[in-house]
This record gives sequence, structure tokens and C-alpha cells, in this order.
Amino acid sequence: MGSASSYQSQDMPEQVCYTEAVMKVGLVYDPIYLKHDTGQHVENAKRLEAIISHLEQSGLKQQLTLIKPRPATVEELALVHHEQYISHIQNVAQKGGGWLDADTIMSPGSYEVALYAAGGVIRATEAVMNREVASAFALVRPPGHHATATQAMGFCLFNNVAVATKYNLAKYGLEHILIIDFDVHHGNGTQEIFYDNPQVLYISTHQYPLYPGTGSIEETGSEAARGTTVNIPLPAGCGDAEYEQVFEQIIVPAAKRFKPQLILVSAGYDLHWADELALMQVSVTGFAQMVKIIKGLADELCDGRLVFSLEGGYNLTALATSVKATIDVLLGNTGIEDRLGQSPHGFGAPNIASQTKSIKEIHDLP
Ligand SMILES: [Zn+2]
Repeated sequence: MGSASSYQSQDMPEQVCYTEAVMKVGLVYDPIYLKHDTGQHVENAKRLEAIISHLEQSGLKQQLTLIKPRPATVEELALVHHEQYISHIQNVAQKGGGWLDADTIMSPGSYEVALYAAGGVIRATEAVMNREVASAFALVRPPGHHATATQAMGFCLFNNVAVATKYNLAKYGLEHILIIDFDVHHGNGTQEIFYDNPQVLYISTHQYPLYPGTGSIEETGSEAARGTTVNIPLPAGCGDAEYEQVFEQIIVPAAKRFKPQLILVSAGYDLHWADELALMQVSVTGFAQMVKIIKGLADELCDGRLVFSLEGGYNLTALATSVKATIDVLLGNTGIEDRLGQSPHGFGAPNIASQTKSIKEIHDLP
């Protein structure tokens, strides 16, 4: 592992000026991702088809720099996952697929697709680190944030964001990587993988209690990494205002104190009000606001180096519109389209002031 200065001289060509890449946004996508065949499962290929079709029809896809994914190597996966577990996933695929647990299913093609999902996020980070693009969105599946080093869970096989994070720590000698996980579920796998690693700040907003049950405010990291896990569990019913509040009051100061060199986002869209897997009330406009804050952090703290990786999101219209809004913000486009509007569900605004205060105290944030 090299030092931060050696990566700058060796791997970041000086002739590629930041300003040349400043507005270029990369999109990792390949039809290979449709070959993880989950049948009638809620996490199915129609999700990516809906997103790609919306990006094409709206003309946004033409504004993006397409990045071709590659499969992650077994060595790259082994930065996170035990080799026995990797072989197990390969074997299940070779034997025709099947259920790994009550939620997670594989088809014969799933192992190869999962390699491309992890490799796709790696490629997105490489493109950002090498300044081919300013930022990137990896439109991959299966998702990753529930997968632990040794276990598939919650529709996830390999932990794509965790593998890409470890890859960047090793390849570029980075010392501080921030992962923001706004999926409505807690990313138990990502938390567990980096729980004792002070080089990675993992911040998660999630509905709580909800699957998988982890993510309380007391889970803050172990030993030398104490404080580098920041959990923001939120009650059902939170919408745009509550998310903006915790982003501004917790995520922004925590990120500024950590000084990341790269930001990865586990971007799940199942906190949209129309999503049926949870009870949050965020709108497309709310996602755009969250992404604006994250982009502001990346611009201020790490020369804009920012990679989004798709996690959940199961209402196809909400998912496609929200991903487009995310990319619009990355491109600097104004006038975010929100054809679904605000939630009609009439949840009262939950009071999260005391919860926010407790989290700030636990993490000693200003
Ligand atoms: Zn989720």
C-alpha cells in the first residue's frame, strides 16, 4: 500500500486537469446486470430497465460518459469476503441457483453478474480517481450493503461498495474514505466490514426498527475505529425536512471532521414515499436535496470525487425518477422533475430533535 503522495504522482496523471472533468458524470451500466434472474422477486431486472429507459427517454443518458464495467477478480472480492464464501456463491450458481436465505435468491448467471456489480463500482471509482469523470453512478445489481464478509443477506451477494472501498484504500493508498448509506435499511454488512477500520467513516440513515435490525445509535465502531460508524436511525414517517435536518446537522459536520479523500454513496431509493418496503416519506425533490448536500461535501472536501452505487428502491417510477434526479444534480442541472410530488399519506412530521441531539452528543459533533 503506497502513501497518499505516491498515488498522486503515480496514478493521477497531472495533465488531466480537474476542470476538464468537472462536469462529466460517468454511468456504469451493462445489460449483463439483467442476467441476475430473480423471477417474481421484488429485486428484479425490471428495476434497471425502468431506470435506463427513463434516462434514455429524458435525453439524460446522452449527457453521461458511459463506463464499461468489468468483473471483479476473486482477489479483489477477497479484500472483503472470505474465499470459502466466494466459492460457495460460485458453486450455488453452477448448480443452477436457489435461495440463500428467506430473502436472497440466485440464478445460474448470478455469480458472474455479482462479479460485474462489484467490478462496476470499482470501475466507477477508478474513473473518478483517474479524472476520466468528475463523479459517477454505478447502476448495478445485485445490491450489496447487507452482504457481510461471510454471508449473503437481504438480496445482496457481494458488498459492492465495501469491495470498491477496500480496493481504493489499497490501490491508491487512500487513508480516509467516507461511505454515506441513505438506503431505508441499515447497511449491516458495510458496518460490520469496517467496524474496526478507522480509515472508513460509515454513516447510515435508516428507518428503525426495520430489517435487518442493526444500526442503533450506540453502534459507533470498535477500538481504534470508535466514532467511525455513525448511525442515524429514524422513526417511520420521516420526509424531506427530517432528512435535510440530519444531513445538515450530523452528516455534514461528521464528514468535515473526517476529511475524506473519496466519497461513496450506497444509494437506495426505498425511502421514497411510494416504495412499499418501508414507511419513509421522502420525495424525488428530497433526494435531490440530499444529493446536493453530498455533492457539496465532495466538492469542498475531496475535489468532487464522488461515486454513487445503486442499492434498493422498488417502486419503479419512484426509483427511475429519483435516480434521474440524482444524476441531474451531479451534472449541475437545475429544474428537477418530480412528477410524483409530495407524499399523500398524511404522516405527521416526526419530532427527531432529541434523537438528533443524542447522536451529536455521542459523536461529539458541533
Ligand atoms: Zn433497502
